[in-house]
Order: sequence, then C-alpha cells, then structure tokens
Amino acid sequence: MVEGLILWLLLPLGAALGWALGRNPRPAGDPETLSGLSHLANENPDRAIAALTKAVERDPEAAELNLTLGALFRKRGEIDRALRLHESVLARKELRSDLRTQALYELGQDCLKAGLLDRAEELLREASQHASHAVVALELLLQIHELLGDWQPALDVAGRLEALKGQSLALQRAHYACELSDLASQDGREEEALRWARKALETDPGCVRASLCLGRLEETRQHWHDALAAYLKVSEQDARFLPEVLPAIERVCAAGGEVDTFRQFLDKVEAQHGLDSSVWLARAHQLPDANAQALYLADKLAQRPSWRGLVQFLSLPVAGDAGRLSRPVQAFRESLVKVLDKRPRYHCSHCGFAPSLLFWRCPSCKQWGSVHPAPDTL
Ligand SMILES: [Zn+2]
Repeated sequence: MVEGLILWLLLPLGAALGWALGRNPRPAGDPETLSGLSHLANENPDRAIAALTKAVERDPEAAELNLTLGALFRKRGEIDRALRLHESVLARKELRSDLRTQALYELGQDCLKAGLLDRAEELLREASQHASHAVVALELLLQIHELLGDWQPALDVAGRLEALKGQSLALQRAHYACELSDLASQDGREEEALRWARKALETDPGCVRASLCLGRLEETRQHWHDALAAYLKVSEQDARFLPEVLPAIERVCAAGGEVDTFRQFLDKVEAQHGLDSSVWLARAHQLPDANAQALYLADKLAQRPSWRGLVQFLSLPVAGDAGRLSRPVQAFRESLVKVLDKRPRYHCSHCGFAPSLLFWRCPSCKQWGSVHPAPDTL
C-alpha cells in the first residue's frame, strides 16, 4: 500500500522534474529536485512540498510540477491550495492534451474530497473520455454515483468499467438493479420494480437480495406460486439466509394452500442443513404437541446448542403448570431474550463488522453483499 503510494507519487514527479530540467537545464544533482524526490521516498510530504514549491517558483509554467504539487497538497488535507493549483493549470490555453486530462483528473479528486460532488462528477466524466485516465476516473465516478444513490448512472459506469478492465462487476450491478427495484416499489411502480428485480437475478444468479426482492413483490400481488419459487431459490443461493427466508416460505405456502410443499421443503433442508437452528425450529412448529416439541428440541440442542433453540425450548409449557411457564423458568427465559436482543444478528464476511440489522452494503468496509446472518450457536 505504502510502496504503491510512493510509486504513484514518484512516477509523475519524476516525469515532471525531468521535463522541467529539460526546459531549464541545471546540474544533474540539482539539490531542490533531488531532495524533493528523496523526501517523497521517505514519506515526508511537508519537506517534499517545500522543495517542489522552490522548483515551481523557478519554473512556474511547468504544468507537471504544479499538478504534482497540488496532489501533495490534497494528500496533506490542504484542499483549497490543491484546488487553486489544479484550476490554474486547467485554465491554461496552451495546455497539452495529456496534461489537460491529468488536470481534469486531479481537480476531480480535489472536488470529491471537498464534497463538491456535482463538479467532481463533471470533471471525472470528461477525464474518463481519455484512454489514459478512463479506468481511474470511472472508478471514482462509480464512488460518486453510489454516494448519491444514482443507480442508473452507476449501472452505466460499471458496464464501461467491466469492458475496460475485463473484470466482472455483476455482483455490484445486481445490487444497483435491486436498489432501482426498491425505489420503483416505494413509488408504487410495481411492474418496473419487478422488471428490475428480474434484471438483478439475471445479472447475478447468485444474488440473494434479488430473490428476496422478487419474492416480496410477488407476495404483495398475491402470486403465491411465483413468490414461493423466488423464496425457495434463496436456500440454493446461500443457506446462511435460511433464517431470513423460512418464515416467508411458510407464509406463502400457507396462503397458497401448499402446506405439504412446506413440509417437503423442510425435509429437504433438514437433510442438507439439519444443524441450522432456523430449520429445526420451523420443524418443531410442525409437531403436534408441546411434549413432542420438547423432546425434539432437546435432541437438537444436545447436537448443536443454539440461542434461539434454547429460548424456544424454555417457552414450551412445563408439565403440571397448566400451560404456563413456571416463574423461575420465565425469569430465566426473559433474561436470555434480553441477552439475545443485544447480540449482533449479522456478520460481514469481509471485515468482521457485526451489525444488528441486515445491510446489503457493509457500512464498515463498503462491500456489496458481504453481510449475512450470524451463526446462532451458543
Ligand atoms: Zn464489512
């Protein structure tokens, strides 16, 4: 990371200094330029800036030096100075095409850092038209669209980036389509919401969010069979989401009169994911009475202790208590529920962040689709 940064700083600086020395020949060991490079290599931007400022004073027309000095100001947090320098370079009438592109890119980064997102978007869009800066400018443009929630432009930019880098961004593009589906759904544009949800699934067939989104939309319009198909897909896409989707599957099976289908589904997932507490809790609900449920849950808890399993077990009526929990058991259960409520329910597989809500983009590391339900083990 640090080596990459130094290289990034040294490359334009080396070119700039070489060009400046060529215009205004000085001895090869020019003290200011050499010390500028040396301080950069030692990650001392303050001294590097001082040395470069002297070089710029000697040759104020050297655009490369100004661009590099501005980038250093930005790195040090002096955005106003960076903006002024880069604006002044961009305003030059006789500016070489490659330097103009570099100036657009630098100024775009300054504006992004200053929160001037509209201006940053405009500059980076122009910089992205030039092959030399297309990828880096589009990557920043994508950040801006995500920040602003401009999902259609984000889709367009992601498509261009894929073509340029030869790298799939299907996961992100599917989430952008889901965002568009959610927006359409909130505005009551049902058909459009469905179209975007289907598009998301087509873009990334493994997208759990797209299946949940599609299931919810079909359920809203009481298309039980289509809703069930969408929800069932989740268990194939990522079994960690079973706790999220099982209640929905049970609900649409009941609404659509497909109770047997739910039982068959439970048989299937129990065979595959029998240790998942959400599966055996759903199975316990199917059993005829509290005794059968207690025996079943005790057996499952012995195999795999689980928080929710324990709470459910303690909720069962105690024999001889006329269907009510005994006071000590009730107190213990309530304490357990409080502990459970404070536990994070989700987990980011990318950075380890543990939120209590499901985010489709991790608030900590900004990865799409990396947050999933946390294991329910004691
Ligand atoms: Zn994360």
